[in-house]
Amino acid sequence: MPEVIQKIDKIYSPEDYFSSLQDRTLRIFLLGKAVEDPLHHPVIRPSINAMAATYQLALDTPDLASVLSPYTGQRVSRFLHICQSAQDLVLQNKMQRRLGQITGTCFQRCVGMDALNALHSVTYEMDEAHGTGYHARFLQFVAMLHEGNWVLGGAMTDVKGDRSLPPHQQADPDLYVHITRRTNAGVYITGAKAHQTGCINSHWMVVMPTTRLTAEDREYAIIGAVPVDAPGITYIYGRQSCDTRSLEGGNIDVGNALYGGQEAMVVFEEVFIPRELIFMDGEYDFAALLVDRFTAYHRRSYVCKSGVGDVLIGAAASIAEMNGIDKASHIKDKLVEMTHLNETVYATGIAASFQGQATKSGCFLCDSMLANVCKHHVTKLPYEIGRLAQDLGGGLVATMPSEKDLNHPEIGHLVQKYLKGKANVPTEDRMRMLRLIENMTLGRNAVGYLTESLHGAGSPQAQRIQIARLMQLEYKKRLAHILAGIPIETNHDALIDELGEYFGRVFQLPD
Ligand code: SF4
Ligand code: FE
Repeated sequence: MPEVIQKIDKIYSPEDYFSSLQDRTLRIFLLGKAVEDPLHHPVIRPSINAMAATYQLALDTPDLASVLSPYTGQRVSRFLHICQSAQDLVLQNKMQRRLGQITGTCFQRCVGMDALNALHSVTYEMDEAHGTGYHARFLQFVAMLHEGNWVLGGAMTDVKGDRSLPPHQQADPDLYVHITRRTNAGVYITGAKAHQTGCINSHWMVVMPTTRLTAEDREYAIIGAVPVDAPGITYIYGRQSCDTRSLEGGNIDVGNALYGGQEAMVVFEEVFIPRELIFMDGEYDFAALLVDRFTAYHRRSYVCKSGVGDVLIGAAASIAEMNGIDKASHIKDKLVEMTHLNETVYATGIAASFQGQATKSGCFLCDSMLANVCKHHVTKLPYEIGRLAQDLGGGLVATMPSEKDLNHPEIGHLVQKYLKGKANVPTEDRMRMLRLIENMTLGRNAVGYLTESLHGAGSPQAQRIQIARLMQLEYKKRLAHILAGIPIETNHDALIDELGEYFGRVFQLPD
């Protein structure tokens, strides 16, 4: 374990968390410059605050955001909990919605949570099939995370190169993370993971394959954990729209001065993973199962966006009020529409959790179909909610003068006078609300609310593929034929396969 992490016994509070990030030696580049102190970097800090909100919520509402650790007997973040029931899955979603409401952005901690839960069952089933010993190792790793209440990041998405080729056929072998050499002590990996959420704000990172693998891809079948400051890792920070507003001073134009998301490209150059932290080494036949399970968990984790949507609906309603149009029926109707869309995201996600079932390892897994439906909604509905918020905000969302103009000795009074809405609403308040809508639909947090909604946990087509796999057409055709009075020759094996694949649903075959 790295020396810096050992300085903190256990992280309970945001302050403990901030201390745990101090004096680390991560190699980070942002805007072409090395970042020595991410904790105090104005572009990075809002993302650290969003992660810290997960610790604060655990203090404020322990039943929602923490659990009693079976390893330490002490309370530990729910983000580190292995789900023991469908209710545990549901509580994850409730916690995610609440954190979306508090931060108005991506609080970055769900990837690690979903990776832990996926790995619990996958390592168990891998051991069963291959006689390996990964599950026991994995449990030790979970116990270590509980000891410190650390943040775990999950690194799955490879940069992928030519999308038509599998990992082993890429012109450059490093376009998927792979093992370069093995020693008795462990393995070395090289490659890069793209748009890694919250990676710099984590303490540990678990590296996983991103796609189905074949025997030729054996060296790409690696799952292992590393501390984020392991030698050989470079972080290249992802730009966000309007990110440099954080460097201008002031707190109006940034829209959401407190919170932001974080993505970076993580480059691994001969990074060592010790044997005790390896949870897959060559078992390529289990890569697809891992990806399926992880994406099932993670796609219903996107109920986080319903929490963010709550903030945007609140901003839209507030700006309508500040403009004096809140009583108009079409305004109310738009707010109803936004709410309907937002609750649709929540409903499908939380339903996936309620339908959770135990896997062989005892860890509960959500319903994959509903999880994919949730995420597929998320690829579309926040864009419509964002459009309606901009509709209610008016053109000023995109044309408003700056905070510096508002405070300018010569022209400040003009901005004050002409950006006034209702007489009893201070101009500055109206500007702040418009900037928040801009932030969430065009600015820094539009990364989390819109583009991440589109591509995070898999782009729309990835969900359509899963929905197609799980849609049980043989079964549904049979239902139709029975009622239509048409005899049907059912391919019984295909029918059983379909039903078997649809984890979490037990549909009886009609006679
Ligand atoms: Fe969690 Fe949502 Fe951010 Fe993913 S996008 S890490 S689910 S808050
Ligand atoms: Fe994400």
